[in-house]
Amino acid sequence: MPERGLGTRLRPYGSSIFSEMSALSARHDAINLGQGFPDFDGPEEVRAAASAAVLDGPNQYAPLAGISSLRGAIAAWYQRWYGVAVDADLEVTVTNGCTGAIGDAMLGVLEPGDEVLLIEPWYDSYPASVVMAGGVCRYAKPASPGYRIDREVLEAGVTAKTRMLVVNSPHNPTGRVYSEAEWDVIEAFCVEHDLVLFSDEVYETLVFDGAHRSALSRPGLRPRTIVASSVGKTFSLTGWKIGWTVAPPRLTEAVRGAHQFTSFCVATPLQVGTTAALELPDSYFEGFLSGYRSRRDQLVDGLRSIGLEPIVPEGTYFTLVDLASLGVDDDRAFCERLVRELGVAAIPTSAFHEDHRSGPIRFAFCKQPEVLDQAIERLSRVGELLP
Ligand code: GLN
Repeated sequence: MPERGLGTRLRPYGSSIFSEMSALSARHDAINLGQGFPDFDGPEEVRAAASAAVLDGPNQYAPLAGISSLRGAIAAWYQRWYGVAVDADLEVTVTNGCTGAIGDAMLGVLEPGDEVLLIEPWYDSYPASVVMAGGVCRYAKPASPGYRIDREVLEAGVTAKTRMLVVNSPHNPTGRVYSEAEWDVIEAFCVEHDLVLFSDEVYETLVFDGAHRSALSRPGLRPRTIVASSVGKTFSLTGWKIGWTVAPPRLTEAVRGAHQFTSFCVATPLQVGTTAALELPDSYFEGFLSGYRSRRDQLVDGLRSIGLEPIVPEGTYFTLVDLASLGVDDDRAFCERLVRELGVAAIPTSAFHEDHRSGPIRFAFCKQPEVLDQAIERLSRVGELLP
């Protein structure tokens, strides 16, 4: 029998940097500030709602678009926070996390050979999902450390074959939140090139100054936009893998067209739990954000206190630390040494660039305060790793 393994399409993407660093971290019993998952679980009443649904049902297949109470809660969420009217029946699809939403959107919308414009540094499933859907990746490359989006940056990556732009704000891994001016640029660019916009908004409740801007709230973008979000970050339930898309009916048909064959539907009792989550009172979201603001300050101040220069993130639960200014030119090798020699895991951002050039490293602060303190203590020996 001929030897078969990973096909050529996916071979360039190897294994996910998140799995790799988590595995290395576990092997060395390190503090894992790499893969972004909280070391605490979401609200008890939300878990209780899911647990009651496991015991009492529903436990059978959900409708492919999602249970109607959850689709209603998702529509109400966009009205509540952004004042946007969403049709729960025609515009909402519950997916296997936001990663599932990305995959379903690419598979549903793209024609073979369509180009998708991704912005560096990207979330790692974007390029692989484009390629799995028969699309071709193009890249826009904003300059570090500002990572600002302007027209020139976007135009450099567009061709006559470009069909879609993918954006992410608040942005993983840079912690940037796009300004109104950047959204103006994105809107004009999408309209002029007649692009579908895929807007990944999973960190929507983690904006430290001002408020999140959803692409849905822009009338110019609304008819051409697929917004995706999930329960994982906002409710500290990343293992539930419940996400969703909101898009006008024709784009929703495309997402559902793929979703019915990738997953058909996602875990029914967890959809019941997610409904309870989205309906939590404002006080939950205030406490959530203030808890994260204090973790952000703790990690940023801690990193500064040991001589590193973190970017203060405007959103998300990540901060970047530049290595080039410290004379380090291989972020991946440096992260491996951090785990092995100091017992702390981070993510090298070279994994999120087309040419894999060495970049800053990302630390996650979705951890208990005492764990962050312990990580800083271990990292205080970082000088030993510097050239
Ligand atoms: N979104 C998470 C992060 O950026 C990881 C998700 C994953 O492991 N695939 O860390």
